[in-house]
Amino acid sequence: MSKELFDKIVNHVKVQGFVYSGSEIYGGLANSWDYGPLGVEMKNNIKKAWWKKFVSESKYNVGLDSSIILNPKVWEASGHVATFSDPLIDCKYCKSRYRADKLIEEYNPEIKASTMSNSELEKFISTNIPCPKCNHKEYTTIRNFQLMFKTSIGVVEDQKSLAYLRPETAQGIFINFKNVQRSSRKKIPFGIGQIGKAFRNEITPGNFIFRTREFEQMELEFFCKPGTDLSWYDYWKNYCMQFLYDLHIQKDNLKFIEYEKTELAHYAKATCDILYNFPFSDTFEELWGIAARTDYDLSRHQEYSGENMQYLDPETNEKYTPYVIEPSVGVDRLMLALLCDAYDEEIINEKDTRIVMHLHPFIAPYSVAIFPLSKALSNKANAIYDMLCKHFSCDYDEAGSIGKRYRREDAIGTPYCITVDFDTENDESVTIRDRDTMQQQRIKITDLISFLNDKIKL
Ligand code: ATP
Repeated sequence: MSKELFDKIVNHVKVQGFVYSGSEIYGGLANSWDYGPLGVEMKNNIKKAWWKKFVSESKYNVGLDSSIILNPKVWEASGHVATFSDPLIDCKYCKSRYRADKLIEEYNPEIKASTMSNSELEKFISTNIPCPKCNHKEYTTIRNFQLMFKTSIGVVEDQKSLAYLRPETAQGIFINFKNVQRSSRKKIPFGIGQIGKAFRNEITPGNFIFRTREFEQMELEFFCKPGTDLSWYDYWKNYCMQFLYDLHIQKDNLKFIEYEKTELAHYAKATCDILYNFPFSDTFEELWGIAARTDYDLSRHQEYSGENMQYLDPETNEKYTPYVIEPSVGVDRLMLALLCDAYDEEIINEKDTRIVMHLHPFIAPYSVAIFPLSKALSNKANAIYDMLCKHFSCDYDEAGSIGKRYRREDAIGTPYCITVDFDTENDESVTIRDRDTMQQQRIKITDLISFLNDKIKL
């Protein structure tokens, strides 16, 4: 894959109305993006897919929607106030600013910069790496840059109190562990899933929607008995990878990276990432983080809040603080992976290529598009649209030749197109065309809903 291909994909999804530059009429706001009509449909479908597999269809898990602004003590307990920062280094000559660990990893991907101390990072950079912008090798010392966005609560200026926009959804889950366990009468093992916005004042956002300051996460905190945690860790690792396969992401573009013991956070027993082969990078990049976090989070909240976070096993009468497995993935980042994976410039013959997005039918912004062959048939086509739009997200198009209309839908990934023609009135049937095979078949209008339901399911 290549940067050139990535630029093409980004351009394509912008032009088609998946994603727009944020605050565009005011000259933009760097690295912020707005999701257009197709983008919001696709994003909602990704969230629906995750919720279906990780909450609705899992007999272990339930859902939650906690606040974005939490009591600031939450972030003291979680360790974010003290340690959620990135090492920042500036070029003294051209003033370019870098995340020190990323600068090293880009210079040599073999080096695990995340395990180096600030003085080791500084020393390595100033002896080895010329500034990528101006080629000088004169840097400032490293400063730790707090990634949480601060805000304040209250209307009276001198009584305002400091608060943070959450940098992850996970802590909202931990602080509600007891509430959920009690009210849903869940027994260990069980999990709590949440989808929501998170905010990080990233030093080096970029690569389109890969890394932004405002993004959405889909997180599961799975609570289990100490000692069973590593087998649940394997369970959820496989579950996450299977989810990506089910979304039809090409297997070759995915892989696990398991972190060495020396690279783990002090409280973690095991951590891995699922990486995706994003075209903007020569190496695979993080898509999904999965961690075995022991009882760190619940214990810290117990310590800081004074509330008992232990679980009493009703069968054995044993009391313990559950261990946690956390699979965490960004909606926007998964959307980028799905878009890159689906994009195809297919050569039909010597003179003809088509741009087609091979998105999984469950994920595609529109499930089906309805075309009247001629405007004279628009009443009938509209009646079919009205019937189908109660079940599926539908597009309607009566402009241009049928061939052109097919191509427009291919380019945005619509898996099925229905053409209403002059025979429809007589045989109560339509032609349905498959995006990937381009095969057409005649089908009764009364069979459309079950046909589509069967094809679109996940
Ligand atoms: P990185 O090392 O790339 O900064 P991280 O390891 O801090 O990421 P986590 O805290 O594990 O990321 O977040 C879990 C998931 O949330 C990531 O795997 C990614 O999919 C998503 N994510 C994290 N930060 C961002 C961001 N700034 N923009 C978009 N998605 C993000």
